[in-house]
Amino acid sequence: MPVTHTLDAADVLRRQDPELAEILLGELDRQSTTLQLVAAENFCSPAVLAALGSPLANKYAEGYPGARHHGGCEIVDVAERLAVDRAKALFRAEHANVQSHSGSSAVLAAYAALLRPGDTVLALGLPYGGHLTHGSPANFSGRWFDFVGYGVDAETGLIDYDQVRTLARNHRPKAIVCGSIAYPRHIDYALFREVADEVGAYLIADAAHPMGLVAGGAAPSPVPYADIVCATTHKVLRGPRGGMILCGAELAERVDRAVFPFTQGGAQMHTIAAKAVAFGEAATPDFTAYARQVVANARVLAAGLAAEGLVVTTGGTDTHLITADPAPLGVDGRGARGRLAAAGMVLDCCALPHGDARGLRLGTAAVTTQGMGEEEMGLIAGLFGNVLRGEVESQRARDHVRELTGRFPPYSR
Ligand SMILES: *Cc1c(COP(=O)(O)O)cnc(C)c1O
Repeated sequence: MPVTHTLDAADVLRRQDPELAEILLGELDRQSTTLQLVAAENFCSPAVLAALGSPLANKYAEGYPGARHHGGCEIVDVAERLAVDRAKALFRAEHANVQSHSGSSAVLAAYAALLRPGDTVLALGLPYGGHLTHGSPANFSGRWFDFVGYGVDAETGLIDYDQVRTLARNHRPKAIVCGSIAYPRHIDYALFREVADEVGAYLIADAAHPMGLVAGGAAPSPVPYADIVCATTHKVLRGPRGGMILCGAELAERVDRAVFPFTQGGAQMHTIAAKAVAFGEAATPDFTAYARQVVANARVLAAGLAAEGLVVTTGGTDTHLITADPAPLGVDGRGARGRLAAAGMVLDCCALPHGDARGLRLGTAAVTTQGMGEEEMGLIAGLFGNVLRGEVESQRARDHVRELTGRFPPYSR
C-alpha cells in the first residue's frame, strides 16, 4: 500500500503548520516501527484515507438521501446510497444505516429505537468483556436502563448460556445484547435468538469486533438472528473510524429516526464515503483471504503464547482476538503491558474470567494487514516470552520488532 497520501498530507501541513506535520509524521513512524497488537485496531487503505481527507468533509447533510435539511446534497446523496447498498449486499441485510459516528453511537441508537428509559436489558457483564454501552454506571446505558449481566464460566471462559436463559426467564428483559470487547470465540447467535423469543425480548448483536470477519466469511453472521446489529467500521473491517447499524425492513424507519434526528445531527459525508470504499474492499476475494489469515494468525499466536507459559482464555481463539494471563511468568497484566510496550509491542490490558487479576488482550487484524503470517506470529510469541521472562533487554527486543516491521511496512513508500 503506498503511503503517498499520508505524506502528501504532511507536505501540505508542513507549509502551513509544521508543528502538526511533525505530529502526523511521528505517529506514522510509531505505527510503522512498533507492533500494533491492540485488538480493535487496523490499518485502513490509502483509498479509505483519501476519502476521509476529501472535500466531502465540507458538506452539511442532515437527514437521509433524497430528504435532507440542507441544499446541495445531490452528490453526497449518491455516496451515502452507495455505502448503504454496499453494506446491505456485503452483510445480506434488508436495511443499513451508515451514519453512526462510532460503535457507541450505533448502540445508543439501537437502544433508542427499541427501548424506553428504565427498561431492563440483559447483556454480558463488564467484568467479562461487556462494553461500556452494555450497562456501565459511568455510561448513559447504566444510568438510563436497568442492566442485568450474564457472565462466562470461570473455568472455561465460555459464555454461560444456561445462565443467559435463567436470567432471561427471571428478569424478562426488553432486550438482550450479545457482543463483547474481549470474547475470543464465536457467539451462538441462534441460541440467543431462541432465548430472546422465549421471553419476548429484542435481540441486539453488538458485533463491533467480529464484523470484519463476518464480511470475509470467517465468522458466523448475526444478521439472520438479531433484530438489530450494531458494528464499528474500523476494527477488523478495516474502514474509517465509525459505526453502522443493520436491521430488517420492519425496523428500518425506527432505526433511521433513532440515529437522526434523535441521537445525531449532520451526517459526516467524508466518513460515509470512506465507509463505502471499505465495504467495496471487503467484498473482494482479497479480503476473504485476509479474514481467513487473521484467524489463522490468531490461532498460531494463541498457541505460541500458551507454549511460552501464558494462560490463554478459553484455550485459544476462533477470531482475531486473544486474551491471556501472564501470571505464570511472574508478571501481572499491567506490568506485562508496560514491558511489552517498552519493547515496541503495543496492546491492552483486560479483565480475566477468573478473579480480579488483569490480563492481556491482543489481536491480529493490523499485523495481518501488514502481510505477516504464521511464521511471524511464532516470532512474536517467542519475543513475548523473552520479554516477560526478562531474558532480553527491551532495547534488544525493540530491535527485533524494528527488523520485523521493516520487512512488513503497513504503508509502503
Ligand atoms: C469497539 C466497541 C464498541 C465501541 O466502538 P467506538 O467506536 O469506540 O464507540 C462498542 N461495542 C463493542 C462490543 C466494541 O467492541
